[in-house]
Amino acid sequence: MTARDPFPSEARDDLLVEVAVALPLFGRYTYAVPAALREMVAVGRRVLVPFGRRRVTGYVLGFAADAPAAALKQIEGLLDPDPLFPAAMLPFFQWISDYYMHPLGEVLQAALPTGINVADQQLVSLTDEGREVLPEQARTPWERAVVERLSRGACRLPVLQRLGGDDFSRTALQQWEQKGWVTRQNTLGGGRIRPKTERFVRPLTEPASQERLSAPRRALLAVLAQRGAMAVSALKAHIPTAADLVRRMAADGQVAIEWRAVYRDPLGAPITPDNPPAPTPEQQRALEGMGAAIGKGYRTFLLVGVTGSGKTEVYLRLAAEALARHTTVLVLVPEIALITQTERAFRARFGRQVALLHSGLSDGERLDQWQRIRNGEVAIAIGARSAIFAPFEQIGLIIVDEEHDDAYKQEGALRYNARDLAVVRARQAEAVAVLGSATPSLQSAYNAQIGKFERINLFERVDQRRMPEIFVQDLTDLREERGSRRFLTAALTEGVRHCLEQKEQVLLFLNRRGFANALICAACGQAVQCDRCDISLTYHQQSNAYKCHYCGFSQAAVARCSRCGSNRINRLGIGTEKLAAWIQELFPTARVARMDRDTTRRKGALVKILKALRERRIDILVGTQMVAKGHDYPYITLVGIICADLSLSLPDFRAGERTFQLLAQVAGRAGRGQRPGRVVLQTYNPLHFSITAARDQDYDAFYRQEIQFRQALGYPPFTRMVQVRITGRDQKGVIAHARRLGETGSALQQADPAYGELVLLGPIEAALARIADHHRWQLLIKGPRVAALHRFVHQLLFGPDAPTPKSGIRVAVDVDPVFLM
Ligand code: ADP
Ligand code: ZN
Ligand code: ZN
Repeated sequence: MTARDPFPSEARDDLLVEVAVALPLFGRYTYAVPAALREMVAVGRRVLVPFGRRRVTGYVLGFAADAPAAALKQIEGLLDPDPLFPAAMLPFFQWISDYYMHPLGEVLQAALPTGINVADQQLVSLTDEGREVLPEQARTPWERAVVERLSRGACRLPVLQRLGGDDFSRTALQQWEQKGWVTRQNTLGGGRIRPKTERFVRPLTEPASQERLSAPRRALLAVLAQRGAMAVSALKAHIPTAADLVRRMAADGQVAIEWRAVYRDPLGAPITPDNPPAPTPEQQRALEGMGAAIGKGYRTFLLVGVTGSGKTEVYLRLAAEALARHTTVLVLVPEIALITQTERAFRARFGRQVALLHSGLSDGERLDQWQRIRNGEVAIAIGARSAIFAPFEQIGLIIVDEEHDDAYKQEGALRYNARDLAVVRARQAEAVAVLGSATPSLQSAYNAQIGKFERINLFERVDQRRMPEIFVQDLTDLREERGSRRFLTAALTEGVRHCLEQKEQVLLFLNRRGFANALICAACGQAVQCDRCDISLTYHQQSNAYKCHYCGFSQAAVARCSRCGSNRINRLGIGTEKLAAWIQELFPTARVARMDRDTTRRKGALVKILKALRERRIDILVGTQMVAKGHDYPYITLVGIICADLSLSLPDFRAGERTFQLLAQVAGRAGRGQRPGRVVLQTYNPLHFSITAARDQDYDAFYRQEIQFRQALGYPPFTRMVQVRITGRDQKGVIAHARRLGETGSALQQADPAYGELVLLGPIEAALARIADHHRWQLLIKGPRVAALHRFVHQLLFGPDAPTPKSGIRVAVDVDPVFLM
C-alpha cells in the first residue's frame, strides 16, 4: 500500500491506481493501468483486477504516486462505460468504512446496485485419474458427497463447500489437486444485470434518392423524417412490418441500426399533477427557517410535527426551494408502503424529475434509476434506507421522514443507520438535513436539546382537526375473564359497533412479535425484570429460565412477580391471527383484514391491503406495528390498541421509547379526515409514563422522563455502544471464541488506562440463542466517547492480539446497535 496522490502532477508512462476490492479485506491495492485504458480510468470506476488466483471487481479510489517494489499487476478491464458514483462521494464511503468497521470494497459493493458485481468463480472438476482413484479415497461423508457431485460434472467451489456443512476441508481439495485428481479453473461469473438496450433506427438516405424506393420503405423513412431516430419497437406501431423491413433496408444501406440504452420504467402510469394547498401559518413559519438555509452550508433541522400536521407538504415545498437553487434532493422513507404514498405526493408535484430507489424494484430497474441519478437526469430521489447512497454529484437537501423508525437500521453484512448517515452526508456535502417525526428518536431530540440540531415544531393538525380523544382501559380490571373477553373489552367492542354503523373504518393494533415472549404478571401486569439492569428478562425455553441478556443474570422460570408476589406469570399468547378470528366472530358481516409479516410476505401484498383500505373495501384492519407507520387514511375513526404493554416488556433499554412511539403513532392514525377520531388504549400499566405520555400525545413529557432514565443507567444517548456477535454451528466453538474475545477485551482494558471508561458486558448467550442452527453469543461494549470505544473495538477485533476465529465461526460488529437480541 502506498501514499495517495489524487492529482498526479506530471504525465508518466506508468499510471498507477489505488483500488478497493469487493472482498472482506481492509487494504487498498495498487495496480498499473495498461496504455489502452489510460484515457478512461477515473475515480469511481469499477474495474476487473487480478487478485490472488482469481479476478474480482475493484473500485478505483485514486491515483498512486509510486508502487511497492514487487511486480505490479495490471487492471484487466473497465466494467462500466461511466463511473458509477461521483468521486465526491469517496469521503462518504470512507467514513462509513471507518465508523462501521467494514472494508471499503464491501461498503462500495453494498452501496451500488446489486447484481452488477463480477468475479472469477472457481470451477472444480475431476481428472481422468481422479475419476478412477477418488471413489475409494474419499473418507468423510463430505468427501464422498463431493466425489459423487463431481462425477456428474464440473461444479463451483461454494456449492461443494455447502454439501457437507462442518466436514468441509479446503486441505483435502488442495491435496487432491496436488495429486492431479481434481483441477480448478476460473470462470468469470456474476454481473447478470446490465443496462437495457434497444434497437434504434436512423435514416441514412437523402430525400432525393427516395423516389426509387418501394412504398413501404418510403413510408418508413417518412416516419423517421418526422420523429427522428426511433426504437424499432415503437416504429411497429406505425408500420407493422417494421422489424423485417428495417433489417432489409439496413442491408441496402438506407437506414442504420444502433443499440441504445433505455430505462426500464418502474413508475408505471403517470400521476396527475396536484394543486399545492396554501401552507398553514405553522407550515409557513417552518418553511421560512429551513428553506432559507438551503445552499448556505451544513445544518440539521429536527421537524417535530404532531400526526396529521402536514409534514409531507413541508417536505414538498422544501424540495421545490432546493430545486429553485439548482441543487438536488434526497428523500428517505422507512418502508416501501410509505414510499408509494410519498412517491405519489412527490410525483404529483415534480413529475418525471423523481427517481425511485427501493427493494420493490427489480435489480434492472434499480440499476436504471441509479443511472438516471448519476447522469443528472433527475433532481429528486426517493427511497428506503439504501437510497442514502444515491449518486448525486451535488446534494442540497436530505429529508428523512419518520426519522425515529427502526427500518433505517440496516442489518446483515454492512450494518449502518441511514438516518445517521443522512446527517453525515449532509455535513460532508454542506447540505441541509431535515429529520421529521411526530415522535423523534431520543437520540435526535437530545441532539436538538444540546444544540447539534435545530428544532422546528408543528403543534397543530391541518384545518384545526382535533387530535384523537384517547380512552384508557385498565386491563387488570378484566384479569379474571377468560379467552377473548380478556382483551375484547366493552369499551372496545362498543366503539367498533358504533363505527361500523357509521360506515367508518376501524384499526386494531396488536404488536405480537413471534420471538418475543412477553413475560407479564397476570395479577398486576408487571413485566419480569432484571434486578441489576432494570431491563425485561427473556424466557429461554431450552433452559426453562428467565435471563438478562445484558449482564447474564438468570433465574428459574418459576419465580414470582417482584411487585405483587403472584406466581401467575403469563407469556402472552395472543397474536394478530387469533384477534382477527375473534373479531370476525363478534362482527360476522364486517370485512376484516389482517396486516402483519405473515400476510405481507409476498411482493405487492402490503400495497394491496393499503389500497383496499383506501377504497373502503375493508371495515376492520387488524395489524402489527406495520399499521403504525405514517399512513394517511381519512375514514379511520377508531383505533383500538389491544395490549399496549407488549413492547414495554421487550429486553431492550429502548422498550419505553419504542412503546411510546408506537402508541402515539398508532393513535395518530385516527381522525385524520373530516370526522374526529377516537382511540381505546388497553393496558395493564395505565400509569406507566410511556403510556400516559402517549395518551396525552405529549412528546416532551415522555422525553423528560426517559432521558433521566438513560442518564442514570448510562445508556445512549449518554453512551455509545458496539455489539460484537459471535455465531456458528459449532456451539462449543462459539462459546470458546466469545470467551477468548472477552478475555482479550479485559486484558486490553487493564493495559491501557484510556479504556477505563469503557464497560464490557458479557460475553453472554444472545436472547435469541439459536437461529437457523447457528448459536449466537454476544459482547456489548459501551463508553461515553466514540474515539476510545472505536479504538478499543478495532484493537479487540483487528489488533495484534486479536484472537482468530476457527473456520465456521463468524464475528460481526454492530456499531450503534438497534436490535440487541
Ligand atoms: P403528517 O405526515 O404530519 O402526519 P400529512 O403530511 O400526512 O401529515 O398531512 C395530513 C393531511 O393534511 C394530508 O391529507 C395532507 O394532504 C393535508 N394537508 C397538509 N398540508 C395542508 C395544507 N396546507 N392545507 C390543506 N391540507 C393540507
Ligand atoms: Zn404481579
Ligand atoms: Zn441484567
